[in-house]
Amino acid sequence: MQKKASDYLNLLFDIGELADLVTGSSDLESFLELAVDLVARHFNAPVCSIYLYNEKSNRLTLKATKGLKPGAVNKIHMKPGEGLVGRSFETLSIVREGNAGKTPGFKYFKEAGEDPYNSFLCVPIKRGVEKIGVLVVQHRDLNHFEMSDERAIWAVVNHLAGSIENARLLIEFSQTREDAEAIDSLVFVKGNAAAGGYALGKAVVLNEQQKSILYDPVPGEDQFIKQDFSLAIEKTTQELKDLQKGFEQKLPESASLIFTAHFMILKDKNFIGRMGELIDEGLNPVDAVRKVAAKYMAVFSASPHAYMREKSQDVEDLSVRILNNFRARDEKNTYEKGNIAIARQVFPSDILKYVSAGIKGIILASGGVTSHVTILARSLQIPLIIAEESGLLNLPGNTTILMDGDLGNIYINPDKKTIKLFETKAGVERQAHSASMESTTWTKDKKRVILLANINLLSEVPLARTLKAEGIGLYRTEFPFLIRSTFPSEAEQYVIYKKLFDEMQDHPVMIRTLDAGGEKTLAYSDSPKETNPELGLRSIRFSLKHRDVFEFQIRAMLRAAAGKKDIRIIFPLISSLDEFLEAKQVVYDCMDALSGEESEFNRDVAIGMMVELPSALATIDEFAKEADFFSIGTNDFIQYLLAADRANKMVADYYIPCHPAVNRGIAKIAEAAYANSIEVSVCGEMAHEKEYIPFLLGVGIRILSVDPQFLPMVQKTIMNLSMADAVEYAKRMLSETTVKGAKKVLESWKF
Ligand code: PEP
Ligand code: MG
Repeated sequence: MQKKASDYLNLLFDIGELADLVTGSSDLESFLELAVDLVARHFNAPVCSIYLYNEKSNRLTLKATKGLKPGAVNKIHMKPGEGLVGRSFETLSIVREGNAGKTPGFKYFKEAGEDPYNSFLCVPIKRGVEKIGVLVVQHRDLNHFEMSDERAIWAVVNHLAGSIENARLLIEFSQTREDAEAIDSLVFVKGNAAAGGYALGKAVVLNEQQKSILYDPVPGEDQFIKQDFSLAIEKTTQELKDLQKGFEQKLPESASLIFTAHFMILKDKNFIGRMGELIDEGLNPVDAVRKVAAKYMAVFSASPHAYMREKSQDVEDLSVRILNNFRARDEKNTYEKGNIAIARQVFPSDILKYVSAGIKGIILASGGVTSHVTILARSLQIPLIIAEESGLLNLPGNTTILMDGDLGNIYINPDKKTIKLFETKAGVERQAHSASMESTTWTKDKKRVILLANINLLSEVPLARTLKAEGIGLYRTEFPFLIRSTFPSEAEQYVIYKKLFDEMQDHPVMIRTLDAGGEKTLAYSDSPKETNPELGLRSIRFSLKHRDVFEFQIRAMLRAAAGKKDIRIIFPLISSLDEFLEAKQVVYDCMDALSGEESEFNRDVAIGMMVELPSALATIDEFAKEADFFSIGTNDFIQYLLAADRANKMVADYYIPCHPAVNRGIAKIAEAAYANSIEVSVCGEMAHEKEYIPFLLGVGIRILSVDPQFLPMVQKTIMNLSMADAVEYAKRMLSETTVKGAKKVLESWKF
């Protein structure tokens, strides 16, 4: 039945009255019920419901309904983006569907009793920029709602938004109880897969809870005496030594670096000594630790220097360890109690600490993650999932968690059947992982392709060797810089690089100079905060600006390469020929200096560049005359060519590896390399993504460098394709002018 404008005026009038009536009321549930009742009546719809958004749990929850089963209230939850309601909320737009059950993305809730309702109209409730929730009306008839209904409901909801906002604030006030219920009902969380693999273990929520011992009294803590304090210090020292040993085996490049500050503080008489004095003066040992720690932390945090502020975290970490060690010896420390770490935020150095403490998987429960945390987790083969579900941070310790890092799935207290399923799957994958590889890679029509490995940590070299990588196509040197609290010295770097070159026994190694800055900030470098770090003083720009840091690194590389056959230095993020020549000159200057010092070094290293910027693409022919080789860093190349931040989910749809501009760019780089007889490889993630391999080969790329774990899959993909087909296919791809067309061609390749 066609509605008349006067019907809607009538509706607005009533709602205006209602809003006035309830603004001062604190009976939230009845307000929401009245609201849904009234809207349902005026829209002549059998169902009207309100979902409210809770920022903490990042969920929409059904809060009131007229027409659905009342038992569903507070039981139905949706994430932004999930189902029609979630979609309306996320996109802040009206969703009108005439046959909801058949709409892609529709989420069916059995407990709501919504089967008979076909037509669906959802409207986001917002106030200014504040997103509040979603109001939904439903009707049995197919295609019941019309455009005029959209306008009307939009007006109604706008009118109600203020009152609903009040209601939501008050509801959040009494949220604690609901949060507890939510945790009980948390059984599965869908997150984003960041580092693959499977892990089963007990949850341990880190960061906040772990540190609370430093700030909140714990029952029984006043029983401790000075002897307990001395034992706690002893235990802490031993614990740190054990952790250190674990590191030395797993991560030789971190060697003695991670806990250096901790050991120094433990030796500081003003720290431990002052605690002892306070205890002698009659202060409870636990409070003595808290008091001295607080003083140190306050001094460090007030420093204008980032590296000093970092020290405050070391004091905090150390003091938490001491306090945890006051407990009886048979009580285990936080890490040992669980082995799936759940944290709000993670830094690269945290990952190292977790791993050496036996953590099997990491879940980031909120906030973003730098792509280097992801790369590090992958290098250490530890699953990492990013899940925007802060409820995870409230999980009680000892909760069993199953992580499927390949899909980003988190199962909370999974049943035996699920666990068994995953154990079988992991077993099959382990077998596939150790699948024997051929020592050289050929296409079906006998064209040779060279597979190299990307390495971030020395601990990955053995796997790369076992999997028959023919060399290292990218060694990211930044990790030893990122995981420590000061710049590594030339001598320290020399030891790391020498170990790498020795282990690779004359296979080619492409070693990249420091790619710091951007998201990979070195806390100790004291660089001012940048508004646009990805466009800032990063990478080669940082090195050229900090010439001494750059020279130490180059000298360490040249010395470590002495007597080696095929060592190649690569500069990252090169934006102009001038910059490349300047960086090259630094290498020659270092060679001259080393000659003068009569140090042994390698004069024959090749010098190449990462092609990652549109400016390099535009002048690629000139670069090909100056560089000994190219390595295409597709991760950054795509990011900068398409102006789409590689780590920003909001623009993920713009980050398109098969974009015509990217395709043509890669082809042009390969062409320039061939015309000037220099080698070109691809070391960005595209090189291990199965669907892009035929194109890369088709435009003439014959060297791919991938994370070691992808080597078997990449080899198998190449062995199953014919180069002649790949060349034809690449031609078709290059003739496409739109993303849509390129995607079609991409899908046409039959694996
Ligand atoms: C790239 O940009 O593709 C690359 C390999 O370098 P990184 O991921 O370290 O920036
Ligand atoms: Mg890069």
